[in-house]
Amino acid sequence: MGESHPRVAASLLAGLRQVLGEARGPIALHEPEFRGNEWNYVKDCIDSGWVSSVGKYVDQFERRLEEITGSPHAVAIVNGTAALHVAIEIAGVMPGDEVLVPALTFVGTANAVAHAGAIPHFVDSDAATLGLDPRALDAHLAAVAERSAGGLRNAKTGRRISAVVPMHAFGHPVDLDGLMEVALRYDLAIVEDAAESLGSTYHGRHTGTFGRVGVLSFNGNKVVTTGGGGAIVTGDPALARLAKHLTTTAKRPHRWEFVHDAVAYNFRLPNINAALGCAQLEELPDMLARKRVLAERYRQAFENVPGLHFVGEPEGTRSNYWLNAVRLDTPSLERRDVLLAAANDAGYHCRPAWTLLHKLPMYRDAPRAPLDVAEVLEASLVNLPSSAKLADARAEGIEAVRARLTAPQ
Ligand SMILES: *Cc1c(COP(=O)(O)O)cnc(C)c1O
Repeated sequence: MGESHPRVAASLLAGLRQVLGEARGPIALHEPEFRGNEWNYVKDCIDSGWVSSVGKYVDQFERRLEEITGSPHAVAIVNGTAALHVAIEIAGVMPGDEVLVPALTFVGTANAVAHAGAIPHFVDSDAATLGLDPRALDAHLAAVAERSAGGLRNAKTGRRISAVVPMHAFGHPVDLDGLMEVALRYDLAIVEDAAESLGSTYHGRHTGTFGRVGVLSFNGNKVVTTGGGGAIVTGDPALARLAKHLTTTAKRPHRWEFVHDAVAYNFRLPNINAALGCAQLEELPDMLARKRVLAERYRQAFENVPGLHFVGEPEGTRSNYWLNAVRLDTPSLERRDVLLAAANDAGYHCRPAWTLLHKLPMYRDAPRAPLDVAEVLEASLVNLPSSAKLADARAEGIEAVRARLTAPQ
């Protein structure tokens, strides 16, 4: 039966204390951090009046993203979900198609499929990467799909299956070689949900650059933030132009005429958000370095702890360790919640992984593969406080000492 709940909860708390110290106030799961040029660049937008749909920071932000990811083209978008929605459309998914997505992901992945008029078709995860399992996908397609003149079809629903959306959970890259092989064989477009994996690489290449299109998010809880924001990255110049066109109301360039040539979106990233993003990207290398230090401390703290183990980056990859996680050796939603209650009561904001998407009311009837591994992961993953600043143990120590010295006696 494994270790008892209270013993495992005590081990979790001991590990958290070892890495983070005693929680004097609540320690958040992930907090934004502004200690570079954020204020200068945002102030520049306000002082110059360029806060909205036009301005130099959007271009700068896109060029920096291209440098960081190695992707030839980046298009800044108002948030990650909107970026994913447009990415799915431009990848060739038609309304009424099915799109393969992991059941274990943030709801935005499936919502973007639905916004594009398509139907999410849930598939299982790989325990080693936490992301979509290519072997399980292959076995599932062999069982349910048939090839037809119009492409791959779900034999049960008759609908076309046109794309697959892997998601790099908590920053850990999925098995991209395996996935690309399966996608090629079944003629599926890959749209990478790299919302959580800015800075994560697979065999040295940045996540988000393997599929036809990839998507990043700069929401407030991600590695770096624009307040709200996202981006599409692609190697295809025509798709990049289409992404820009569709997300900026499909307006034909003209000095004064309002001619729009498609029912499009107002999904552009405002200049003031891009300004914040430019400053944040300057801090990214330092942020990633400190997140690795924190992850290493957690790894050591949970080494040889009965009942728990730390989730490390998959072989051949470099994770950004967006969210650190431990797994319970004995999966159980009840046991997991005992741990979550103990950690949160002690001031450490720990969180479960997402509720599997096929259990949500709007996706209850969506097609799905057997989800055995995803069920186990749902019942065993616990995310730990992961802000980069939590690695500044010495700085935190200084702050605490200073606070004590200046506190009224
Ligand atoms: C954050 C996130 C998104 C969506 O990004 P937003 O910018 O919040 O819209 C999509 N997918 C995953 C997996 C995410 O974690």
